[in-house]
Amino acid sequence: MAHIRPASDILEAMQSKDAGDVSLVTRAYEFARDAHANQIRYSGDPYFLHPAEVGFLLAQIGMDPKTIAAGLLHDCMEDAGVSAAMLEKEFGSEVLLLVRGVTKLGALRYRGLERHVESLRRLFAATAQDLRVLIIKLMDRLHNAKTLEHVPAQKRRRIALETLEIYAPIADRLGMSVAKTELEDASFPYVFPEEYEKTRELIKERKNENEKRLEKAEKDLKRELAEAGIRDFRTESRMKGIYSLFRKLERKDWDLGKIYDILALRLIVPSVADCYSVLGIVHKHWRPVPGKIKDYIAFPKPNGYQSLHTTVYTGDGGALEIQIRTEAMHREAQFGVASHLTYKEVLGHLENGPKGGGLEWIRQFIPARWKRTNIANAGSGTSGRSAPEWVKELAAVH
Ligand code: MN
Repeated sequence: MAHIRPASDILEAMQSKDAGDVSLVTRAYEFARDAHANQIRYSGDPYFLHPAEVGFLLAQIGMDPKTIAAGLLHDCMEDAGVSAAMLEKEFGSEVLLLVRGVTKLGALRYRGLERHVESLRRLFAATAQDLRVLIIKLMDRLHNAKTLEHVPAQKRRRIALETLEIYAPIADRLGMSVAKTELEDASFPYVFPEEYEKTRELIKERKNENEKRLEKAEKDLKRELAEAGIRDFRTESRMKGIYSLFRKLERKDWDLGKIYDILALRLIVPSVADCYSVLGIVHKHWRPVPGKIKDYIAFPKPNGYQSLHTTVYTGDGGALEIQIRTEAMHREAQFGVASHLTYKEVLGHLENGPKGGGLEWIRQFIPARWKRTNIANAGSGTSGRSAPEWVKELAAVH
């Protein structure tokens, strides 16, 4: 039997150590555990294994205590028959609103590609009132996608396809790249089993070569940086997700030799100025591949992603992608919207956008009349607002 994540893991991962927050999350944990007491998952594990894991994932990506509590409680209404009144009495109106939002989202059903765009729009429409609902739902799906092997085959394929078509793109748009990659890679084998095997075989063949190249580049670069007097940095290697690699292989005639970013080297430095200095040092040491230098610091991607990218010839006939960024950019690149610690910050982010770009796409899904009222109210921290008319309209259509 699988191990149920203890409350202590969640509390440890949670950023707040405030006594009230610890008590809220502990109570939510115990409440959900008791509510799901007699239920089991396809795997034969106790059902509570799932919400406990969702709570942990939310804590790990830095979400606030109320969101973590709502994550623990997210299946209580639908699957354990807990009433809204009960949840509100125990955990307050904000947690209730989040749990309700997740429950409503669960009712949206993916109906295959032809309904794709429409489903996506509904998904956003139904949740635009609180981004945290969307983030809980993403972590819910992430855990379900990671445990698909236990689900009956027919249902498994539907869930995997829905994850690839709907959830991973949303994670991507929210800038949550770690979640996006995990969602894709968990679903890939069930949607395209043959392509999955083929891609896996290809990677295996090149694994050693790529790892050696990265290791050597890392060593050389550390020496070059030290010589230039730059000591305050750290390196990290990043393996491209297997699904994302498969997509790229399709575009490159299945020629792995044309793909330079299977493995990438990351350099994380203190300031933006350091990013540009390091880029200079990299290019002084290795010749860059023409057309591969990307300044996402000056020109962030639409989801807010910032970094300098370059691909360099490593002198052994191969090439390697190097990504240079600050610690703050690194956090944002991994967790996206979730890296903004508070809801107010997220709304402020929406309102002002990060420097030079950002989450413009979210605004497209929020009609002006709702945006005005919602964002105007954001500073007061109220969240017991009722859904605006257009959400009700969409819900009625559905
Ligand atoms: Mn769930």
